[in-house]
Amino acid sequence: MVTYRQSSASGSGAGKARRFRRDARSTHSQEDGLATDKVDLSPWGNALLHALSPEDIAILGPELEATPLRKDEVVFQPGEPAPYVWFPRNGIISIVALDEDGSAIEVAIIGREGMTGLPIVLGSESIIYASMVQVPGEGWRIATPVFRGIVERRPAIKAMMLRYVLAAMTQMGQNAACGQLHNVESRCARWLLLAHDDVDGDTFSLTQDYLAMMLGVTRPSVSGAASGLQRAGLIRYVRGQITVLNRAGLEAASCECYNIVRREFERLLRR
Ligand SMILES: [Zn+2]
Repeated sequence: MVTYRQSSASGSGAGKARRFRRDARSTHSQEDGLATDKVDLSPWGNALLHALSPEDIAILGPELEATPLRKDEVVFQPGEPAPYVWFPRNGIISIVALDEDGSAIEVAIIGREGMTGLPIVLGSESIIYASMVQVPGEGWRIATPVFRGIVERRPAIKAMMLRYVLAAMTQMGQNAACGQLHNVESRCARWLLLAHDDVDGDTFSLTQDYLAMMLGVTRPSVSGAASGLQRAGLIRYVRGQITVLNRAGLEAASCECYNIVRREFERLLRR
């Protein structure tokens, strides 16, 4: 998912994005071409929670339960109330649109920059899209009625969640534009950057079927795109395991949508 830049950053537009991360450890060196200047989101590892004031997180934090994100788990069934709202800190939840024969296409992704439960923030119980775990990891969850009550009592929390809704709308709109405007390889690079932002380390599991679904293209198309990125030395893709080898190169290979959405998240979710 998107990245987050501190206001004290050089801001030179050098193109090297800062990644959300869980803690202060840096696992990369300058030499390997990977981002080193990542924003510290500790202790929660989630940008939305990180952005809340001490007073607000003191209210919300005790209600959050650390929980694994399990591969393929559906955390929001289409058209049904969700029992929990999730704040990922490692891993990816996809919002997917399903057609009548069960085919799915990704509408948006949720990682450590965000949360599930946009309908709840907006006053609805449900949404027609499903939300499911694509890349496993862990996160925080809170029972929906408890979350709803806190959001209603704490205007600053609600305001932050509403700004996140706007950021998520930007992501969805840009995804729609991206699908029409940009080629599969640059879109594939963009998606891999988003995934890299949302996981610890540089390797994550992702089948080509999932990647094809996320990009809304055929499996041969996504296979060709991934092969191109691999030949360029930007990623390694072996048995469903993707390793980002050259973060800066992957950013250069991505369409501009990655940075457009990233900047909007930075603007809206500033602490
Ligand atoms: Zn694009």
